[in-house]
Amino acid sequence: MNDIRVELAERSYNINFGKTLPVLAPRKTLLVTDSNIYKLYADLLKEMVKPADIFVIPAGEESKNADTFLAICRKAAELHLGRDCRFAAAGGGVTGDLTGFAASCYLRGVPFIQIPTSLLAMVDSSVGGKTGIDIPEGKNLIGAFHQPESVTVNTAFLATLSDRELANGLAEVVKTAAIADEKFFSFLEDNAKHLYDRGKTALFDEIVRRCCEIKAHVVSCDEKESGLRAILNYGHTFAHPVETLSSYRISHGEAVSIGMECAGLLALELGMWSKEQYLRQAALLDALHLPRRLPENTDIDSVIELMKSDKKNRNGKITFVLPVSTGSVKVVSDIPVELIRKVISEN
Ligand code: ADP
Ligand code: ZN
Repeated sequence: MNDIRVELAERSYNINFGKTLPVLAPRKTLLVTDSNIYKLYADLLKEMVKPADIFVIPAGEESKNADTFLAICRKAAELHLGRDCRFAAAGGGVTGDLTGFAASCYLRGVPFIQIPTSLLAMVDSSVGGKTGIDIPEGKNLIGAFHQPESVTVNTAFLATLSDRELANGLAEVVKTAAIADEKFFSFLEDNAKHLYDRGKTALFDEIVRRCCEIKAHVVSCDEKESGLRAILNYGHTFAHPVETLSSYRISHGEAVSIGMECAGLLALELGMWSKEQYLRQAALLDALHLPRRLPENTDIDSVIELMKSDKKNRNGKITFVLPVSTGSVKVVSDIPVELIRKVISEN
């Protein structure tokens, strides 16, 4: 399969699809992976990356912190890795974000490669160069833009991914189709009944490829999110408060799904899109067993407060990405708070 090019001037790189890494300059490589991936794929990864050493982090979002970040950098220092090294991240979004951030800081920046193993990482977090860690005050509050040298996608990894983690990625897949590509959306509708069937590797290859193409295009147009890239936040203005208020018991993908439903309802209220389009999105989310309803007893004031402190707001205005038709969205930031309340209370 052909590579996808992420065009970013001198920071351009390829997303390649396969079981082996592309030919890269020889560098001493520190491989970072999580405990789950290490148990399942240590031999395969050693064969793929031929690392100088492997640093295994405990699986889970709790690892995406300053201590683990420092531990990776110190491991590299202990191995006397110089500027001619690279880091490699093999895992989900946690491993990718954390390792990428360590790579952006170690010796003021060394190259890194991504080997995403979760669907979420394949279709979203491994492409685009956002890296970072969480602090107690919030998720992803510390980070850097640091583009990888390459991303290698092998959908065979999905064989061992749990349904819940698959769903997590599927929500971002629906988001990607909803913001950019009606044909892709209809492809997902046609194949919805197979999307938990890990045996359908060709289907997943096609889906991941289309998501990467769309994301590569968006990121190439706007690397640092000053314009077009904001559309990737469809569903996310509602999702972030929902995740936070649930203390992260609701996963990112589940929250994005609920967030797309809320954005859809808001767009309906504003007369921006039709009931028919709204129902189409709702039906696809339902077919993929993704949630649309806010948890019972969601406190509307807390949701609005958290929306107001979203790091993506400009001039204190809450920004929404709202659908205008299937495959097309618009960024809107002057929505009356009363309307937002209405949508939340009626969801
Ligand atoms: P995400 O990719 O959702 O951003 P994580 O990096 O925490 O978040 O990955 C989610 C969970 O899925 C982690 O427990 C991780 O170990 C696990 N995981 C990732 N890829 C695979 C895989 N291919 N097989 C089994 N488990 C996986
Ligand atoms: Zn997301």
